[in-house]
Amino acid sequence: MQLIPCPNCGPREEIEFHYGGQAHVPYPADPAALSDDEWSTYLFFRDNPKGPFAERWYHGGGCRRWFNAVRDTVSYQFLAVYRAGEARPVPTAPAAIPAAPPAANGVPE
Ligand SMILES: [Zn+2]
Repeated sequence: MQLIPCPNCGPREEIEFHYGGQAHVPYPADPAALSDDEWSTYLFFRDNPKGPFAERWYHGGGCRRWFNAVRDTVSYQFLAVYRAGEARPVPTAPAAIPAAPPAANGVPE
């Protein structure tokens, strides 16, 4: 189980969250002026990088707010989280997540 550091609630288990796709994809200024190809490109085509990727996440099991995160698509580590509307930070290290407490048998999960 991975902990995701919600910017409003702090670290919570990933089961409380929903992935929302690539962040920072602006809605077209005049969608009616787009061709079918341009509209389908807006709707369906997203970046698919190997490494840090800015994504939208929804904390449905907590604050019920959307936020953005930079996640490494190779390691699945969250490198940074930030509220919607804030500028994308430049991650220098994985987001600080406190270690999970040991299970009842003393072995970390
Ligand atoms: Zn939250």
